[in-house]
Amino acid sequence: MSDQELQRLAEKLSLEKFAVPFLHKAYFNKRLRTTGGRYLLNSHNIEFNPKSYEIFGIDELIGIILHELCHYHLHLRGMGYKHRDADFRNLLKKVGAPRFCSSIEETKKKQITAIHMYECLDCKQQYPRKRRMNIEKYRCGKCHGRLKKISK
Ligand SMILES: [Zn+2]
Ligand SMILES: [Zn+2]
Repeated sequence: MSDQELQRLAEKLSLEKFAVPFLHKAYFNKRLRTTGGRYLLNSHNIEFNPKSYEIFGIDELIGIILHELCHYHLHLRGMGYKHRDADFRNLLKKVGAPRFCSSIEETKKKQITAIHMYECLDCKQQYPRKRRMNIEKYRCGKCHGRLKKISK
């Protein structure tokens, strides 16, 4: 995704979800490391971590844009724009944005805990897996029984 596409997406989300135009700049900054995005108090621009999009896709990016737009709009209106402010929390809820400037590390952890769980039909041995597993192909390591998926 180019900076221009990111800019258009931020403008669109701002109108759709906040009914107020986004009049500053949105762009990717490769130097952001742990956060998905950052609202700059002085310039009112918003920087985004290109990795958030590359690794986690468009839904993740939209969440981060909405989160940063909450900082942006509240700050410009002179309202509570910080994470602990009630104004901020209420606006996040209203637009359905994630609570934190989604950190790459945090999101990675979240993904790893969202595991697929398989169970042997015979001995009930459980196999947590980070990835989907082809249960036609793999059998239980203990008894060679068939596996079934028991959670997402
Ligand atoms: Zn934030
Ligand atoms: Zn088994």
